[in-house]
Amino acid sequence: MKDTSALALQRLSHVYVGDKGASLAVEDIDLSVAKGEFVSLVGPSGCGKTTLLSLMAGLFPPTAGKVLLGGEPVKGPTPKVGYMLQQDYLFPWRSIRDNAAIGLEIQGSKSKASMKRVDEWLKELGLEGLGGRFPHELSGGMRQRVALARTMVTEPEVLLLDEPFSALDLHIKMQLEDVVVETLRKLGKTAVLVTHDLSEAAAMSDRVIVLGKNPGHIRKEIKVPDEIKSADPITARKLPGFQVLFEELWAELNAVDRKEGGGDA
Ligand code: ADP
Ligand code: MG
Repeated sequence: MKDTSALALQRLSHVYVGDKGASLAVEDIDLSVAKGEFVSLVGPSGCGKTTLLSLMAGLFPPTAGKVLLGGEPVKGPTPKVGYMLQQDYLFPWRSIRDNAAIGLEIQGSKSKASMKRVDEWLKELGLEGLGGRFPHELSGGMRQRVALARTMVTEPEVLLLDEPFSALDLHIKMQLEDVVVETLRKLGKTAVLVTHDLSEAAAMSDRVIVLGKNPGHIRKEIKVPDEIKSADPITARKLPGFQVLFEELWAELNAVDRKEGGGDA
């Protein structure tokens, strides 16, 4: 049967081969993400979160199993997938506007129309009038907004977020979480977020996947209750059910630690 989810991992395993031999990073991962769904991956350091995102992005092929994007096997990097990382990787010598346009340049789709989209995204993300500035003139939160604009401008269907908020101060981080959720919801985009922050996972997601390690595997899937899911992340944290959800995630991660001897998540 054809898989109709936006993103699917089927019996996915990955072995890294290096000087010190081969190591199984993730084993037998099955995961389907529906169009418009927001899924978070949490788990101890080394459980394979970044490996899974890299496989989803087609950065390298899996050792076994498949990654499907809209039912089609992923064969390499594709403009359908956008990636946002902890570091913003803005080029210091380029203006904000030119940084936001870099994905378009790489894709060869820079044009008057697409540059108009750059300006619209800068405006949408609260950066209006800052296009002529340079990265060093902006705060960390603003720079991550530029990174988000750069990603959104290329109109990906799926967004992969690898701890994009973890270097930010708490209130800036929470503001940005709200901006990201609102933006993705409005456009019906699909997202997979990796985070160390359980409260962030609980506040932003429709579903949280708890991974265990040695090798990386799915331990548990926790569905976020509707009430929390439909609220924006700042409001979600204040809802009565939020603490219960947080405790559930916390207990599950502690169970990973006890069973698998640690990790520093
Ligand atoms: P996480 O993002 O959850 O911390 P990673 O996906 O980075 O986990 O790593 C999963 C496992 O794969 C770890 O044991 C890590 O040491 C190993 N690993 C990650 N990248 C490489 C690589 N390029 N070469 C060899 N081993 C790697
Ligand atoms: Mg990682």
